[in-house]
Formats: sequence, C-alpha cells, structure tokens
Amino acid sequence: MTHRPSPTLLRLNQIGKAYHTDEVTTRALDAVNLEIARGEYVAISGPSGCGKTTLLSILGLLDTPDDGEYVLDGMPVSGLSGAERARVRNRQIGFVFQTFNLIGDLTVRENVALPLTYRSMSPADREQRVERALERVGMLHRAKHFPAQLSGGQQQRVAIARAVAGDPVLLLADEPTGNLDSVNGDSIMALLDELHQQGTTICVVTHDQRYSAMAERTVTMLDGRVL
Ligand code: ADP
Ligand code: MG
Repeated sequence: MTHRPSPTLLRLNQIGKAYHTDEVTTRALDAVNLEIARGEYVAISGPSGCGKTTLLSILGLLDTPDDGEYVLDGMPVSGLSGAERARVRNRQIGFVFQTFNLIGDLTVRENVALPLTYRSMSPADREQRVERALERVGMLHRAKHFPAQLSGGQQQRVAIARAVAGDPVLLLADEPTGNLDSVNGDSIMALLDELHQQGTTICVVTHDQRYSAMAERTVTMLDGRVL
C-alpha cells in the first residue's frame, strides 16, 4: 500500500493566546481556526497589533498556544515539550524575520549552515545543501561575505536561503519586506513566488496589498480573530 500525504499540511483548531503584563491581559489570539494545504501560498494581513506575529510564532513553534489544537503534517504539536518542539521546528519549519536575524560574526555560508548542524548529516551533504540554497536565492557569489558587507535585500536573501536549506514543509515570513526599499522588497517577494512555484508551502505576513495579491489566498485578521 502506498502512503499518500494528506492535502492538508496544517490545521489550527480554536487556538487562543493571551499575554499578561502587570494588570493588563491582552488576548492576542481568540479562537483562531486555520487550515493550510500542502503547496499553498497564504498571505496574512490586518492592522498592527491584531495578532499576526503571534499567529506566525505559533505556526512556527516559536511559541505555544494557551488553548486549542495544532496539527502539523499529521502530528499534533500543541502538547510537545520544548525540546520536541525545537526538533520539529528545526526539521519542518523555515522562518524569515523582518530584521533578517543573521549572525554578524558568521559568514553567509556559516549562517546558512548553522541550522543544519543540529541535524545528523555528513559535512559533505550539509555543504551541498548550503550551496544549493544560496544558489536558489542568487547569493552563492557572496558565500564568504559577512552580513554587514551586504545590502538589506541581500541579507534577506541569505535569511531565506537559511530558512529553506533544510527543505522545510512550511516557510513562514513575518513582514519580510518591512525593512527594505520597494525595489528590494519586490525582488524578495518575487523570490518567495518562485519558491512557491517550486512547491514550497508559504505563509507570509504583509501590510502591502500588492504583495498579498501575489498569494493564492489572503487571511485577514482583526483583534486576534481570523475574519
Ligand atoms: P501584529 O504582529 O499583528 O502587529 P502581535 O501578534 O505582535 O500583532 O501582537 C498582538 C497583541 O499582543 C498586541 O496587542 C501586542 O501588543 C500584544 N503582545 C504581543 N507580544 C506581547 C508580549 N510579549 N507581551 C505582551 N503583549 C504582547
Ligand atoms: Mg507583527
């Protein structure tokens, strides 16, 4: 019997998350339901403070919900321990941040290789994946540079290479063009589009309607809810 993967890559069921500071409780996510299919390209939009980053952090296993269920690639992940979550995150998720988050004293090549060092693979295999990822984002010619020697757009390309080098099932990007001028922003979004054409499942937070229009579906949020 052949195993056919389910068309649903992930499902959130009644996810809630609140932040408590002093006497204030902020309900960042309120009974959120969301399904993303394998190979889908989804944009998340909504006003500042509506819960987009919180949602992406939960999708990326960087944060845990207070209640609700999260099933990723057939596995319930809401109840995993921190170590288990880190393992699933390392293998299944690629995360791209607004501020690139590259490590300044590592070269481009070392930055992209870093997440792969937590996985058991030969140095040759790792090196091959790093080269392929840098090639995909057009940055192989800068492999020996340090982040500070690159433009913002180039740094974000390297961050995307780092996110896809391990072949994640899901690529998450939180306002990836937020710190870029429009020319670089356009080229980063074109790159995400290209990765999607090649089969990557993508979920991107963006304020820009031109960019959310590039996705197959837009999820709009307001006050911690998905509309
Ligand atoms: P968005 O990304 O849409 O701007 P966030 O998910 O960052 O929204 O935040 C949702 C809400 O939760 C906001 O009201 C924000 O102030 C609050 N919030 C986010 N992170 C924290 C935190 N670490 N501590 C307290 N409140 C937070
Ligand atoms: Mg945000």
